[in-house]
Amino acid sequence: MSPKQTSQRAQRDIEIEGLDSARFDCVYPSCGGICCVNGRPPLEEGEAERIEQNLAKFLPHLRPEARERIESAGHLTKRKKEGLPALAVSKGWCVFFNDGCVLHKVGAEEGEKWKYKPWRCVAFPLERTEPRKWFVRQWKLNGEAWDLFCLNPKESPKLARETLKEEIEFAKDLESGQESWRKLKT
Ligand code: SF4
Repeated sequence: MSPKQTSQRAQRDIEIEGLDSARFDCVYPSCGGICCVNGRPPLEEGEAERIEQNLAKFLPHLRPEARERIESAGHLTKRKKEGLPALAVSKGWCVFFNDGCVLHKVGAEEGEKWKYKPWRCVAFPLERTEPRKWFVRQWKLNGEAWDLFCLNPKESPKLARETLKEEIEFAKDLESGQESWRKLKT
């Protein structure tokens, strides 16, 4: 391996706790998308900018009440999470949820499903604790308060390392700077 390849590989090295012990299997759409109920993901500066610049593409796909919320008060709340503004909720669901994530659907139509989606939603159930350090969310682990059934390790025999291949690669992309448009705060 050349020095350049070694350096590129090192940049993608991250630690993810629980890959060989946590169990997870996303069953969407049969769950109805419940991780988007009151999810309120915080947005990085670049993510908020990109959504703002492309709002006209998303509005026609939204639930009427969510569209009204965004047109009258924007897609962010004053509430801060991790020091960042969080996405707004309408009637209990993320404003961008309408039988699936509209940000995801529009991105997929344009050939890049994650180009508008907040990284926290892309990486779920992987959570970042500090640069290059992640873990797999599971019931009650590290103070997990969300009681989503899919975070219950008893719901699936499948190991996270097998079911989260895309998310793991995404976390590596994020840490190695390939998602720099998002402008991560830390
Ligand atoms: S941005 Fe998309 S995936 Fe994230 S909570 Fe909203 S609808 Fe769900």
